[in-house]
Amino acid sequence: MQGKYRWPEGVRCVVTLTVDFDGPSHETGRQLTPLGVNSHGRYSGRRGVYRYLDLFEKHGIPGTFYVPGYDAECYPQVVKDIHNRGFEVGAHGYLHESWDVGADEEMLLRKSDKILSDLLGTKPLGWRSPSGRKSGLTVKVLKDLGYIYDSSDKDYDLPYVVRVDGKPVEGMMELPSSAFSLDDFPFYKFSMTPPSEVLAHWQQEFDTLYNENGYFMLMVHPRSGWGSGTPARARIMEDMIRYIKGHAGVRFFTVGGLARWCLDNRQHFD
Ligand SMILES: [Zn+2]
Repeated sequence: MQGKYRWPEGVRCVVTLTVDFDGPSHETGRQLTPLGVNSHGRYSGRRGVYRYLDLFEKHGIPGTFYVPGYDAECYPQVVKDIHNRGFEVGAHGYLHESWDVGADEEMLLRKSDKILSDLLGTKPLGWRSPSGRKSGLTVKVLKDLGYIYDSSDKDYDLPYVVRVDGKPVEGMMELPSSAFSLDDFPFYKFSMTPPSEVLAHWQQEFDTLYNENGYFMLMVHPRSGWGSGTPARARIMEDMIRYIKGHAGVRFFTVGGLARWCLDNRQHFD
């Protein structure tokens, strides 16, 4: 899969910047009232999402926002604004379920899909599990909903055609995400790494993937607290965008747009 024709003509490295809304759904789903010390998720809807919309627009680049259904119910205008300003909205659970949803999985996937579809008048193209959890049923339901990609798996660093029981699921790509390296959460939740060091780490990852003719997917959260919604942490995303743009042969995609391109050039991703 390291062939020179893997990406569009002249493109050496593809980049997707993803923003997981993770608003009050995150606290409400854990039976916490999203007030006071538990109000970090509300920052996403009030400030963080708009900060990222403005940033991406300023730099003329696409972006993908994954939105839990409950957050779309709390902040319908914010989610409409994401869509109306030309960015991708993907599904991301209902109450940001980070527990085993068992037999409720299909109901939750369909419920979240309906909330976003009704709100935006168009269906999402893809889904990212709010916790990375998936089951043997997940892909079947996503396919049934008309989705063309999942972005939950951590098992590779390039997109690939989804397989179930060894057989390809035609029309369904996996665009893996890296929740422990190309993510803000572990740095700001656990290690309290300063933004300048997080930036240096992401740049190292980018350098390596760029040299491998690769795929760079970055995941941030527009919350306060452990997220990247607040000024200094959002600023390193801008620094990162400038850094990436300083490299020749880079193209930014929405995740859905990249999934479509991969499906149209499926032979490189089997
Ligand atoms: Zn999330």
